[in-house]
Amino acid sequence: MTKDKIYIIGNWKSNKNRQEVKDWFAFIATQDFSKAMPENLTIVVCPPFTYLSLSRVLIAEGKLTLNLGGQDVSPFKEGAYTGEVSASMIKEYADFCIIGHSERRKNFAENDDLLAEKVKRAKETGLKIIFCVQDENTFVPPGVDIIAYEPIWAIGSGKPDTPENANKVIGAIKQRHQAKVVIYGGSVSPDNILSFVSMEHIDGVLPGGASLDPVKFAQMISQCKK
Ligand code: PEP
Repeated sequence: MTKDKIYIIGNWKSNKNRQEVKDWFAFIATQDFSKAMPENLTIVVCPPFTYLSLSRVLIAEGKLTLNLGGQDVSPFKEGAYTGEVSASMIKEYADFCIIGHSERRKNFAENDDLLAEKVKRAKETGLKIIFCVQDENTFVPPGVDIIAYEPIWAIGSGKPDTPENANKVIGAIKQRHQAKVVIYGGSVSPDNILSFVSMEHIDGVLPGGASLDPVKFAQMISQCKK
């Protein structure tokens, strides 16, 4: 694998308890890449908000070369917004943030206007934004750092897009949105990761289910090492 830069961004969604988080990082710490990540790889883990603090401590204790991300962000700066987690709160623990995941659009009715506000809040604090889209026609607010092409039907279905089609859509996204970094998400696994990241336009992947298992996550990293 010779690509200059590959992003692997694990989205844990609403999974794991405290002990499972500890076990996940303990396994990753046994891997040779964990303390000296090859230069071509940027690895981001996105745990639920309640585990960001613990994850940060475990990364520091283990001197692990992993980045952290939030799975969402509040559209509000701070104040009387019960239940919301603001960008500045996330930035205390993480450098990245997913915005516009299809599960948020579907289950929480997040629309383009709301997502644009979320992007603004994340941008103000310096969080790097991973913005999820369906295809090149999805609205992308200005200022996002990474776009993730995630067709709904491929998420959690075990039926990924073909690498060829993902490459085509990502090429179109790059052209339409002048985007430098665009990744693919949807049933990515150790078995298919190389077929995606070896494509010309695909700069990385966003695995959900396969990121929960540290063995699979480590296998995906190992395969992409230069
Ligand atoms: C995701 O969480 O965005 C995702 C693509 O999940 P999965 O890899 O399980 O399809």
